[in-house]
Amino acid sequence: MSASVWRAELQKQLLLLALLWLFLLWLLDDGVWALNLTLLFYIAWNLRQLYKVNRWLVEGGKLKQTPESKGLWEHLIQQMYQTQQTNRMRKQRLAKVLKRFHRSLEAIPDATILLHNHGEIEWANQAASHLLNIQNPHDHGQRIDNLIRDPAFHDYIHRGDFSHSLDIPSPVMNQVELNIRIVPFGEGHLLTVRDVSDFQRLQSVRREFVANVSHELRTPLTVIRGYVEALNDDPLPAESQQGVRAIQRQTLRMQEIVNDLLTLSRLEMEPLDLQEEWLDVPVLLESLCEDARRLSAQRQHVIQLSCQPLRLLGNRAELNSLFSNLIYNAVQHTPEGCCIFVKWCAEGEAVRFSVRDKGVGIEAQNLSRLTERFYRVDAGRSRDKGGTGLGLSIVKHILTRHGSHLEIESQRGQGSTFACSFSAERVSALAALGGRA
Ligand code: ADP
Repeated sequence: MSASVWRAELQKQLLLLALLWLFLLWLLDDGVWALNLTLLFYIAWNLRQLYKVNRWLVEGGKLKQTPESKGLWEHLIQQMYQTQQTNRMRKQRLAKVLKRFHRSLEAIPDATILLHNHGEIEWANQAASHLLNIQNPHDHGQRIDNLIRDPAFHDYIHRGDFSHSLDIPSPVMNQVELNIRIVPFGEGHLLTVRDVSDFQRLQSVRREFVANVSHELRTPLTVIRGYVEALNDDPLPAESQQGVRAIQRQTLRMQEIVNDLLTLSRLEMEPLDLQEEWLDVPVLLESLCEDARRLSAQRQHVIQLSCQPLRLLGNRAELNSLFSNLIYNAVQHTPEGCCIFVKWCAEGEAVRFSVRDKGVGIEAQNLSRLTERFYRVDAGRSRDKGGTGLGLSIVKHILTRHGSHLEIESQRGQGSTFACSFSAERVSALAALGGRA
């Protein structure tokens, strides 16, 4: 109601009250009684209006039932009705949006579940019932970890680190693999589940294919190598000698590639329960650095080793391959005379292994792809140096199996650091286990 309307209405009411007071004064001939009766009448009238408005509101505030009023009350009721209408329309619009949102989530073939802050189900779509047997609305309010009882899922939910997705077998269907992803959503979370069985099957076919091909190539390569070596022993005409040596070099290279491919296949296919033992890392690194110096030979790299007396729990062959790949890479991919620092030291809660070199470095755009199979910054140079392009891929897999990951820092012209950290549970002081202090 505008101020001018309000003022006019107020003046009208005051005028009416004054008229009433004058009438009562004329009737009773007593000013105070006339005023008392006028005020009493005014209060009673207002109370009656209030009662009518309250009853109207209680009955739903419908237009048909709007109480009959005059003056200020009429304006007030109109205002209330309008506000109520606006709120009603807003609510309807919101309900429509919510319905549309739910319908679009229903249309998604992946299971989609809205979770409250503590993991209670707020809403789930149709696919959630198919993939996880979560029923809408029957399971609303149930905690998600009470319905999906896979231990890996429990760990995942309680750790609260949702930066990576999780693969688990479906709790309701045999041979169905699910990929679970959780993202923050409002106050709670949005959990999506995708059937990745086909993708997993494809991956396993690929893995088996590579493993089988590598395995099949192994025997013929060994035979070829044997014959070539025998040929090399015999005196050959000069023009043939060059050819035989080239065959020998390439056979050796192929054997190395096949061996690396087989190692990768084993790492991908073998279960995670490794044969683990406590490894005296300083002794292992000392011998690897010695080998690296021999590998460097004429190129005279300066290799410095700095170790703390700490043991590591892991698979001996795999850790040996991990450390040697990173150390030998520093020798293979840096110019002669380059300094290489190998470090095995505690850092906060974890223990870190790093190989830092002051070599050529790697451009930023190559860093994220270095662990891909056969990815080399300079393919020609890598091949010349006998690289298979599989070393860092192997390193990545080994680290994953030991609960770690590869960190690469590099700048063109400044050198590179390849590092990884192991959690405190995997490490112990050498002295504590009766080894070297
Ligand atoms: P390769 O058999 O070629 O060494 P890797 O998978 O071990 O294969 O390494 C992939 C590529 O990463 C290498 O070809 C090389 O270009 C690059 N690289 C690895 N280590 C270093 C390093 N210390 N300095 C510079 N480049 C490196």
